[in-house]
Amino acid sequence: MSAILAETRPDEAHVVVEAPRPERKRVVIVGGGFAGIAAAHALRHADVEIVLIDRRNHHIFQPLLYQVATAVLSPAEIAAPIRQIEVKQRNVTVLLGEVTGIDVASRTIEASSPGAGVHKIAFDYLVVATGMRPSYFGHDEFARYAPGLKSLNDAETIRAKILGAFELAAATEDEAERARQMTFVLVGAGPTGVELAGSLAHLVKVTLRGNFRRIDPSKSDIILLDAGKRVLPTFAESVSRKVAQRLEKLGVKVVTDVKVETVDNQGVIAGGSRIPSATVLWTAGVAASPIPRMLGTKTDRAGRAFVDPFLRVLDAPGVFVVGDAASVIQNEHPVPGVAQAAIQEGRYVGRLIAKELKGREIKRPFRYFDKGNMAVVGKNYAVLERGWLRTGGFLTWLVWAFVHVLSLPQLQNRLRVQHQWVWSYFTGQRSSRLIPEPPRTI
Ligand SMILES: Cc1cc2nc3c(=O)[nH]c(=O)nc-3n(C[C@H](O)[C@H](O)[C@H](O)COP(=O)(O)OP(=O)(O)OC[C@H]3O[C@@H](n4cnc5c(N)ncnc54)[C@H](O)[C@@H]3O)c2cc1C
Repeated sequence: MSAILAETRPDEAHVVVEAPRPERKRVVIVGGGFAGIAAAHALRHADVEIVLIDRRNHHIFQPLLYQVATAVLSPAEIAAPIRQIEVKQRNVTVLLGEVTGIDVASRTIEASSPGAGVHKIAFDYLVVATGMRPSYFGHDEFARYAPGLKSLNDAETIRAKILGAFELAAATEDEAERARQMTFVLVGAGPTGVELAGSLAHLVKVTLRGNFRRIDPSKSDIILLDAGKRVLPTFAESVSRKVAQRLEKLGVKVVTDVKVETVDNQGVIAGGSRIPSATVLWTAGVAASPIPRMLGTKTDRAGRAFVDPFLRVLDAPGVFVVGDAASVIQNEHPVPGVAQAAIQEGRYVGRLIAKELKGREIKRPFRYFDKGNMAVVGKNYAVLERGWLRTGGFLTWLVWAFVHVLSLPQLQNRLRVQHQWVWSYFTGQRSSRLIPEPPRTI
């Protein structure tokens, strides 16, 4: 980036101002997830300066986070440095920083970078693609005991908690404490809860078989709780039924229609009963990051910004919100918060900006093309729903594996994941079982 004016502010160590440049328009993209990367990519031939800001240095393939949490894969296999993804696109500058303020009127954003102070960056176009974060429905105190699954850090925390619980169970002489350590409660039976529960069931039954002399991991209790009436509520009822049966067959206890009232250091209280558990995992709600609210526009209850059919923020020319952070309505239904929707929205906005820069008018509003929904339940079984098509079984599981490998960000990720999956499929072993810190009881 050029045209940088550095100044010192008494309250901040250093402020770097990226002033507007008359000779070339600047597009600032906040978020290097599915939507942000797709937007940048769609602008690859445009004569613009793109500043892609993310608070993390890596892009995460979130659909496989649950496999990091259950020791199938390691973090580097499902993530890639954003700089490396963008290395060949010369019009992109990647900035590691957390966006802390947006001033739509003066068309500037503020991002604080670790050790480098605050960047004030002027933009001609702004694309907000900041995704979602776990929501505890007003009970943020649960977060201390029940981690959500959104980042690599979360996945590693969960993995350490799960594997550590078996170590503690094997070490204790107290029967009740042993049972508590070997009880795993997952709150939320959406795709993340279902996939995590299925993978956990395989871990305790197959991978850990014979690893302990004093305990039998296959005797663990895995309980999947949900306040709703069924698992996978966004799928058809018949699919939910099949998935619940499959989970029960794997040894997961599915409990629906029950509200979690408390999560504490002893476990959970749900539907008035206490379930002692040392490992409670939060796979329930999500809420948008605070960034869409900074735009001063209307947001829905989850904090997603309402956008027009061209994904523009109302009364803010050149400002767009895409991916999970946007509330997009199509045919009177919200577009789902899934990777495909985020990619399509990001790509659409990138193309729209590129056309606008050439002086062409965009007449076609955004249309989401639904390629179908999938969820995997343990080994050899996945479900797919696409329009009227509802199917499940081994072949669907193969399709799921193929689609996921192909969608990983880099060739290196694809090769490594394939290799791990083949190894794990035939041996039942999982390669990512190291716990960096000694387990602690809570
Ligand atoms: C565990 C899990 C499993 C999932 N499984 C599936 C699945 O199987 N299939 C499917 O289609 N979808 C799945 N999803 C949903 C899918 O991952 C999301 O819909 C998709 O990631 C949304 O893309 P996005 O670009 O909007 O946001 P994200 O991919 O979340 O990216 C947002 C980016 O913004 C950055 N950011 C946030 N705030 C700031 C800030 N203030 N400053 C700078 N940067 C910021 C973040 O660091 C992040 O890199 C899953 C999600 C999770 C969490």
